[in-house]
Amino acid sequence: MTRYDVDFFVIGGGSGGVRGARIAAEHGARVAIAEADRWGGTCVIRGCVPKKLLVYASEVRRSLADAVGHGWTLGDATHDWAALIAAKDKEIERLSRAYSDRLRKAGVELLNGRARFVDAHTIECEGRTITAAHIMIAVGGVPKRPPGEGWITSDEAFHLPALPKRIGVLGGGYIGVEFAHIFAGLGAQVTLVHRDSHVLRGWDPEVRELMTKQLAAAGIDVVNCTELGLRGHTMMVAGREIEVDCLMAAIGRAPATDGLNLSAAGVATDAKGAIPVDEYSRSNVGHIYAVGDVSGRVALTPIAIREGHAVADTLFGKRPTPVHHNLIPTAVFAQPPAATIGYTEPAAIEAGKDVVVYRARFRSMRYVLSGRDEQVLIKVVVEKSTDRVLGVHMVGPDAPEIIQAAAIAVTMGATKADLDRTFAVHPTTAEELVLLR
Ligand code: NDP
Repeated sequence: MTRYDVDFFVIGGGSGGVRGARIAAEHGARVAIAEADRWGGTCVIRGCVPKKLLVYASEVRRSLADAVGHGWTLGDATHDWAALIAAKDKEIERLSRAYSDRLRKAGVELLNGRARFVDAHTIECEGRTITAAHIMIAVGGVPKRPPGEGWITSDEAFHLPALPKRIGVLGGGYIGVEFAHIFAGLGAQVTLVHRDSHVLRGWDPEVRELMTKQLAAAGIDVVNCTELGLRGHTMMVAGREIEVDCLMAAIGRAPATDGLNLSAAGVATDAKGAIPVDEYSRSNVGHIYAVGDVSGRVALTPIAIREGHAVADTLFGKRPTPVHHNLIPTAVFAQPPAATIGYTEPAAIEAGKDVVVYRARFRSMRYVLSGRDEQVLIKVVVEKSTDRVLGVHMVGPDAPEIIQAAAIAVTMGATKADLDRTFAVHPTTAEELVLLR
C-alpha cells in the first residue's frame, strides 16, 4: 500500500495541466486531474483556438476587398455572426472532448469540479477527498476587469449573441489588438482605447508603430488616452464622447488562485497572486508545482505545455528537466499579424550588447494588383562581436508562420552569415530574411 491515493494530482485541465497529467500517466504514475469548467482550458475554450477561428472568418473582408484588383466581381457579401459562433462552438466541443478522451486513454482519472487544498497533500473536489504525493497547480488566469459596470472581456466576446454595431475596446496588448481587428473585419465600428502612443508595449518600436498604423488602416478608431471616463455606454476619451453598444476590457490577465485555499497547503503567492516557482516549476512547498499562467512567468500556451511536460518528466520520467524562458517566439494575430523572437534592438542595447540592425520594409507582391497600401516589415537584430542573430521581428501576412521557422535558426544559434548563405525561395515574403544586406 502506498501512502497516498495518487502519485500526482493536477489542478486545472488546460494546456499545462493536461500535458503534465498525460505524460505523468504515460511514465506510469497514478494520476488524477480536476477541471472546474470544460477540458482544454483558456487556449482551447476561450483563447487561442476560438480566437484564431474568428480571425480566419474576419480576414475574409480583406480578401474580398483585394479580389476586385484580381479581376473578380463580387455581389454584396454579408456575414452571419450567430452562424460563425455556432460553428466555432461545435469545433471547440469536439476539441474539448478530444482532450478528455486522450487523458482517459492514458489512464488519468478525470474529476469534473473545483478542487481546493485541505492540506499540503490533500485535495477536496466535489465532496471527494484525495491525497497525493505530488500536486501540480495549473489553473491559468482570468481576465482583469476595470472598475464599473457593463464591461465584457474576451471570455464573453466569444459568446455575444450578435455582433455589436459599435464596440469600445480598452487595452492595446495582444487581446485588444486581435479583437479590434476581428470585430472590425466582421463589420463592427471599433474604437480602441489605449494609454500609450503605440500599441504592444515591449515589442520592437517599428513593429509597434506599424501595428498602430495598420489598426487605423483597418478603419479602427485608435484613441490614445490615460483617463477613460464612462457614462453608461458613452466613453469620454481624449476630449471626445464616443457612443458604443459594447465595452470590452483587454487589460491583462490575473492568476486564478482564488478559491484554491493555498494557505492550507502553505503555498506562497506574490503581490500579483501568482505562485513563484523555480526552474523546475517547484513552489515554496517542495512537492507542489505550478505551471502556466498561474506561475506568473510567460502567459503563453506553448510555454505552459513545456512546463507541464517538464514537471512530469522530472517527477516520473527519471529526467530532471528545467525550463528556461529565453528565445520564446510569439505572435499577435492581427490583420496583418506581427511576430517576434528574441531581443528587440532597445532590449539588446539595454542588456549591454553591441548590435547592428538589418531591416526591409516593402509592399508585398500579394497586394500589387489589389493596390492595398500595406507595408511588410522584417527586422533582424545581430550581435556585432559574434555575428549571432539575437532577434527577428516582423509585421506582414504569414508573419507567425515565418517567425516559427526563423525561430529554429535563432534557437540553433544562427549567425547573419548563416542567413546570407541560405538560398532564397523566390518570390516569397520570407526570402527577405536571407537577402538583408
Ligand atoms: P497584455 O498585457 O498583452 O495587454 C494589456 C493592455 O492593457 C496593455 O495595452 C496595457 O497597457 C493595458 N492596460 C493594463 N491595465 C490597464 C488599465 N488599468 N487601464 C487601461 N489600460 C490598461 O494583456 P492582454 O489582456 O491583451 O492579454 C493577456 C495575455 O494573454 C498576454 O499578455 C499574452 O501573454 C496572452 N495572450 C497571447 C496571445 C497570443 O499569443 N497571440 C493572444 C492573447 C493573449 P500598458 O502597455 O500601458 O501597460
